[in-house]
Amino acid sequence: MGKHPLSLAIRNVSKRYANGVQALDNVSLDIPPGMYGLLGPNGAGKSTLMRTLATLQEPDAGQVFLGDIDVVHQKEAVRETLGYLPQEFGVYPKASAEELLDYFAVLKGITNRAVRRETIEALLKQTNLWDKRRQKLGGFSGGMKQRFGVAVALLGNPQLLIVDEPTAGLDPAERVRFLNLLSALGENSVVILSTHIVADVAELCTHMAIINQGRILLEAAPLEAVAALQGRIWRKLTDKQTLPALEQEHRVISAKLLSGRTLVHVYSPEMPGNGFEPVEPDLEDVYFSALTGCLGPAAQQPKAEEVAL
Ligand code: ADP
Repeated sequence: MGKHPLSLAIRNVSKRYANGVQALDNVSLDIPPGMYGLLGPNGAGKSTLMRTLATLQEPDAGQVFLGDIDVVHQKEAVRETLGYLPQEFGVYPKASAEELLDYFAVLKGITNRAVRRETIEALLKQTNLWDKRRQKLGGFSGGMKQRFGVAVALLGNPQLLIVDEPTAGLDPAERVRFLNLLSALGENSVVILSTHIVADVAELCTHMAIINQGRILLEAAPLEAVAALQGRIWRKLTDKQTLPALEQEHRVISAKLLSGRTLVHVYSPEMPGNGFEPVEPDLEDVYFSALTGCLGPAAQQPKAEEVAL
């Protein structure tokens, strides 16, 4: 019998650093069990929120509950059921994966030797590191280190697992392997994946939030958010020089190079004309629509249908 899965409730959390940066501005989120994506550009406030959830720093205001546990005030209770893979984590380069995992298992309170051996074997197999268990961590690739970090984070069967920007430094093959590992975890616990890579969320997460400048712009199920953009995203292949003119006339959400030309996506509830063609929206369109204020709290302009009412 597994434990009853917990949910995480974040209520009006704010944090301003001593240098005046408002890293979190009244953040509220409901995070159900499963794989949750926190998506935002660098500097958005993701790590600040992750460290707050991981009890490593306190907010200036607001509350966080993991089930009945008051995260800000009952740090020990959270830590008993928390797995945290920080953005940067050090390993002892001269220790082997097996040795260091054993060491962390002891710290986690798994004192029975037989139980510990079994736990370590299971985790090394789960993270696909069993064959490498005797190798020194100093020789591990970026992806192997990240998977080792997950093995450490999973010690003690956490109900809350936080992974902060885990795929940033990985090559494509390592990234796929790492995402596959995460996807197998998210059923009985809350798994929060913080990332600036839209594809990570698109591939893995059943729920997500988009954050920028310390504020939540959108909280949604990725598939529903994409469906809600149907008929509102248009594209045009153009040249870099004409981009400023297009930006004057349309709500350009993204412009990227494609074979030396510029592929522009615009947000528009109606056909924009001007040589634009409709495009099937994807999560990247959701992300850029939110960041440019076409979706979420900043998008206050009423739609045509609403004006008619
Ligand atoms: P992200 O993880 O999304 O990149 P962070 O939470 O690291 O965002 O940072 C949010 C903002 O807070 C940034 O402007 C960053 O420079 C600032 N910041 C982060 N940590 C500190 C700190 N310890 N002291 C001062 N400012 C910080």
